[in-house]
Amino acid sequence: MKTEKVLVEGIVQGVGFRPFVYRIATELELSGYVRNLGNVVEIVIQGSDDKIADFIYKLQNELPPIAKINNLETEELEDEEEYADFTIKESSDSFSGTSVIPPDLAICDKCLEEINDPNNRRYNYSFNACTDCGPRFTVIENVPYDRDKTTMDDFPLCDECEVEYKNPLDRRYHAEASCCEVCGPSLELYKNDNQNPVKIDSEDPLKDTAKLLDEGKIFAIKGIGGTHLVANVMLEDTVNLLRERLGRENQAFAVMSPDIETVREYAIVSDAEEETLLSKERPIVILKKNESYNFAKSVSPGLHNIGVMLPYAPLHHLLFNHTDTPAYIMTSANVPGEPMMITNEEILKNLDTIADYYLIHNRRILNRCDDSVARFRNNELAFIRRSRGYTPEPYDLKGKYTSLNPEFDNLNILALGPELDVTFTILKNSKAYVSQHIGNTNKYRTYEFLQEAIKHMMRITKTDSFDAIACDLHPQFFTTRLAKELDEEYDCPLIPVQHHHAHGISLLND
Ligand SMILES: [Zn+2]
Ligand SMILES: [Zn+2]
Repeated sequence: MKTEKVLVEGIVQGVGFRPFVYRIATELELSGYVRNLGNVVEIVIQGSDDKIADFIYKLQNELPPIAKINNLETEELEDEEEYADFTIKESSDSFSGTSVIPPDLAICDKCLEEINDPNNRRYNYSFNACTDCGPRFTVIENVPYDRDKTTMDDFPLCDECEVEYKNPLDRRYHAEASCCEVCGPSLELYKNDNQNPVKIDSEDPLKDTAKLLDEGKIFAIKGIGGTHLVANVMLEDTVNLLRERLGRENQAFAVMSPDIETVREYAIVSDAEEETLLSKERPIVILKKNESYNFAKSVSPGLHNIGVMLPYAPLHHLLFNHTDTPAYIMTSANVPGEPMMITNEEILKNLDTIADYYLIHNRRILNRCDDSVARFRNNELAFIRRSRGYTPEPYDLKGKYTSLNPEFDNLNILALGPELDVTFTILKNSKAYVSQHIGNTNKYRTYEFLQEAIKHMMRITKTDSFDAIACDLHPQFFTTRLAKELDEEYDCPLIPVQHHHAHGISLLND
């Protein structure tokens, strides 16, 4: 009999990884334990050589759908105590590796079935989630990914949910976003009554929302990681009114349709586009309108294209159960250039000249994350905006730049963008963590958001300091000023980069 320690890095927290480890270990009758150590998973496994080899094979080849292993190290332990069985131990915070929590992901098929099944206790429930789906990045404050470090901490589990949560063989074992109507967040419908929000008693807020939307009302709907302004695409007067209220003359609106069949009725969809629309990341994909396209003229005026996404939150699916419209406009609820509104106070107060109604809920959004936007050029996916569904999954740059700098793989670098349409990147252990869409940092609220987002990314990647900070060469940019401030805080070299040079290098990387 031997004992081995296995350290696993990657997307291994918040994805059902520990119950997966528990299941294969107990199936192979191995003993030992698994636990989260900061952002690494530690496994100690005890048994025969053959079975341990089987275990390591299964560990890498039968992963749960969202999990991803970037690095796996094994080490034989001498004189280890004998374990009677295999257990899942409490998390500990003592290790800093390169793992990261997953992005927010679209509702999975099993959870979708539940909300559409009248006999299921989660029937019609807008916040259904499990270890394979739901919010992650937008609800987490820190790692390791445990419920008390997420905004789900506001919702203690009811008895039934707790039984699922504590059973290693249940698909909701340690699903930190798991909840139900009894214990979880709930929706509230408000009417904008002359700029005063008035709560409406509603048996079924989503049914009422669909009805009002189809009558031509404009809604602000708070979702999982952000808030949308929503309107029916078939109603020209409504869409025009939305444009007027937003002061947005021509820029096209993105839309959401209930399913891919409906999208095909008004747009041309290639196989690759279909696959991306249906992916668990669910970005907006820019599609070519077809001859049957008949939305109101001002949805995407004068364009051959339209940005389309499919429902990703349970709330979206349930909303479409109550309407026949082929699509709703879903555009980020923000003042142009400023960050999307995410608190109930902001939504009710700052959208009172835009929305007729508000559909909000009582789960806090910690990190806003705008919808991602992608398009295909020559069948190649290109991002216009890489955000929800992708952030904070890193790009692996290991070994790519060691010829330029032998130290590259060991450096922690913060790279700040220019001034408009900003994102930032933290490079750590040769993984590049690109932030969500931040916006135009010449607006103060966006500048604040940038600072919060950097601190948050540092926490979830367990980055305490930087070896260098890169910024735009332009001295007047707010990002350049921030770089100088952070540079003093972390006492490291500041590397100004000429704007067009930065563009060139990032294209090389693509
Ligand atoms: Zn699920
Ligand atoms: Zn519950």
